[in-house]
Amino acid sequence: MIAIVLFGKPGAGKGTQAEFLKEKYNLTHISTGDVFRFNLKNGTELGNQAKVFIDKGELVPDEITINMLANEVANNMDKSGFLFDGFPRTIQQAEALEALLKEKNIDFVGTIGIDANDDILVARILERGKTSGRSDDQDEQKIRNRYTEYNEKTAPLINYYTEKNKYTAVDGIGSIAEVTERLAKVIDTLI
Ligand code: ADP
Repeated sequence: MIAIVLFGKPGAGKGTQAEFLKEKYNLTHISTGDVFRFNLKNGTELGNQAKVFIDKGELVPDEITINMLANEVANNMDKSGFLFDGFPRTIQQAEALEALLKEKNIDFVGTIGIDANDDILVARILERGKTSGRSDDQDEQKIRNRYTEYNEKTAPLINYYTEKNKYTAVDGIGSIAEVTERLAKVIDTLI
């Protein structure tokens, strides 16, 4: 089995692209944001723990997120591998992911970043907020806080993976199909 990580700031299109790529490469798509939202909707203990952080646009603490991710991986060992979206978002999560994949004998082929500039992204998120029902998409202050979290905690992962020779960036501006094609080209070189 293989594992690929999709990186990108909030609104970069990770979820949209993952929907296409998971079919093309027979991968289980794990979006930590989606798993959190599912738990919020269903009022689970995990959902209640995560709610305060998500509502402020802050990252959920690593321990909670890492445990959840490990459960998702353990319950989905039936495809050719995994496409992670929204995880890892901190160095500690990246270290936990590496250990988990090693333990499960999954080949971590690399991470791919979807690049786009902040102005375009904030506009996209506000637009999405009109229909997504996500409270964190509707308030500019919360959106801004997600960017601050990204810059402080997630952006260092780009260097972290570049040094390990595990990072490739693609241009995220263009049609959905164009971006899918750029991502697929990179994945084909990794697998
Ligand atoms: P976006 O990338 O648009 O911000 P996500 O759906 O990936 O949206 O995440 C929504 C929220 O869920 C985040 O703001 C954060 O509170 C929480 N979250 C998702 N993934 C993680 C993670 N790996 N670590 C901590 N918190 C996370």
